[in-house]
Formats: sequence, C-alpha cells, structure tokens
Amino acid sequence: MEKKNLDWANIGFNYRKTDMRYVSNYKNGSWDEGTLTTDDTVVISECAGVLQYSQSCFEGLKAYTTEDGHIVTFRPDLNAERMEDSAKRLEMPVFPKERFLDAVTKVVAANEAYVPPFGSGATLYIRPYMFASSPVIGVKPAEEYQFRILTTPVGPYFKGGAKPLTICVSDFDRAAPHGTGHIKAGLNYAMSLHAIMEAHRNGFDENMYLDAATRTKVEETGGANFLFVTKDNKVVTPKSNSILPSITRRSLMYVAKEYLGLEVEEREVYFDEVKDFAECGLCGTAAVISPVGKIVNHGEEIQFSSGMETMGPVTKKLYDTLTGIQMGRLEAPKGWIHVIK
Ligand SMILES: *Cc1c(COP(=O)(O)O)cnc(C)c1O
Repeated sequence: MEKKNLDWANIGFNYRKTDMRYVSNYKNGSWDEGTLTTDDTVVISECAGVLQYSQSCFEGLKAYTTEDGHIVTFRPDLNAERMEDSAKRLEMPVFPKERFLDAVTKVVAANEAYVPPFGSGATLYIRPYMFASSPVIGVKPAEEYQFRILTTPVGPYFKGGAKPLTICVSDFDRAAPHGTGHIKAGLNYAMSLHAIMEAHRNGFDENMYLDAATRTKVEETGGANFLFVTKDNKVVTPKSNSILPSITRRSLMYVAKEYLGLEVEEREVYFDEVKDFAECGLCGTAAVISPVGKIVNHGEEIQFSSGMETMGPVTKKLYDTLTGIQMGRLEAPKGWIHVIK
C-alpha cells in the first residue's frame, strides 16, 4: 500500500479531502445498506431539519499506525454508544452499534493511504455524523436522516512539545442543567463559538465553563474535560450531568487507578478549590491531555506549580501511559484497541 505523499508532521488540524467516505440514509423508518462513495458533497432539501433547527450530532475518533505496523482505532464502541445517546436525545434514529463499527472499519481501510505512518505524530481523524435531511417547517423531528463518516489526516496536536495553556473562566454558560451538555450535538458548538472567539480576543487559549445553575462548580471547556491532580497525587475529575462524557477522560481515570496505582475521584469540584490543585489538564481525543498552566478568573490568576513550560509530572505519566497503550507499547485492557488491519 503506497501512502500519500504528505508532509505528515506539518499538515495541521484542517479538513483535507480523502478518497472515500461512508454514507447511509434513513427513510421510511429504516437505514439503507450503506455504501462507500467518492462523492464529498451532500445534496439536501433547502428546508432540511438540520438547516432549520440544527438537528445533528457527531463523533470524533482517530485511526493511527501502531509501533508494530497495525492500523487501529481506540475504543470505537464507546463512540458508537455515545452517538446512540446523542441521537436519542435529539429524536433521531439510532445508527446501530455493530453497523457503526463496521462503517468505521470500512472507511478507514478504504483510506489506508491517508493513515499516517507510525512515529509521524499525525493521525487519520474520523468524523461520524448524522443530520436531518428531509424538510420540516413546523418544529418537529424530520422523517429522513443521513449518517456519514468522513476522514481527514491531521498533524500532531503539539508541534514542538505540549505548551501549557492559559484559560479563562467564562462569563458564558456552555450547558444548562437537564439540557444537552452531555451529548455531542452540533448545537452545543454553534453557541460556543462566540465565547471561544471572545476568549481568544482576550488572549486566552480556552474557556473554563462553570455550572450554569450556581456558577460555583467546574464543568469543562468547549471541547475537553478537566483532570486535576492534588498535591498528594490524587487524580480528580468533575462530575456533572451536563458534562460530555469524554472517552479519553474515562480511559485516563482507569489508567490512573489500574496502571499507575493512583487514587481517583469523580466528584463535584468547586471552583474555590482549584487553587489547591498541583496540576491541571484538558482531555480529549485530539491531544489526549493538554496541560493547563494558568487559570484566570476576572483578573485573579491561579498558577499551577507545574508552571508554563512543561506538563506536570503526574499529567506526563498519565499521558505517556495512555499513549503507550494506544501505540501498542503497553498492554491494553481488553477491547480497547480495535484492529482494522
Ligand atoms: C468530544 C468532546 C470531549 C472529548 O471527548 P473524547 O471522547 O475524549 O474525544 C469533551 N468535551 C466536549 C464538550 C466534547 O464535545
């Protein structure tokens, strides 16, 4: 298999069209058999539910080459399950888990030439998504849907090492109690764009969102969950019904406990206690963990002792262990690595 001639280390995090994508349509109450296609365009009604009332959800995972040359994905079953939860909450039909896994396998295999080689730091990003394709004008769920998976090669998240981020406590809310914060819906991102642009204009990398009801508890950022490390090396992550259940975060908590023998806690985290933590990181598929060096709350600064140059020691251990599992250097828990070929 001849790989595409791309400068893997420098391709950045942008959409780049690959050869094949997967499409399945839902009509008259069932999904069609689905197919791979070279057609990278979508043609839908001008009145499609997704265009009028944002009825859409998505997932994100990556395919990569392990040290011994296999192409694999990491825990795609959890992406399938999360997308099922998203679909149900948005009154969309569920794309069955077995079919989801089969479609991921097929679309990655069909784009094998775009799966970056081991050691490049790059990956093939996989984006499953679903949207309402048939017309609606009264507010109600559409009758027809399209499920697609596109792939796009993306460069290493940290070029030249993981620089700790500076984040600010946002004045905006990300998710309401009993709202849609726990599902991966496009609408959660549409309304976060203004908040993140404001944060960038003010010189910050990311927003820390607090719980909308009391504004006293830590939730997450626009696209990543928080992990904190206490001064006595306990790993703490916020618990809330309006946080998106990150697969990376759930995996890191397992790794902390089972591989590193650390104490772990998933519990409500009050903003007032953040200043007492030793380390802070953001977790998600793209970066695994991005270290946070500083949090600014309306001019008041919290600096973590890990500083602005490197990841904290526990964060680093978590990062090395999980990436070691993903790359096949360390033995993975059963079912975590899905081998494509
Ligand atoms: C996707 C996402 C994450 C990260 O989830 P992973 O499964 O680890 O990639 C965290 N927060 C939000 C809001 C997200 O949409």
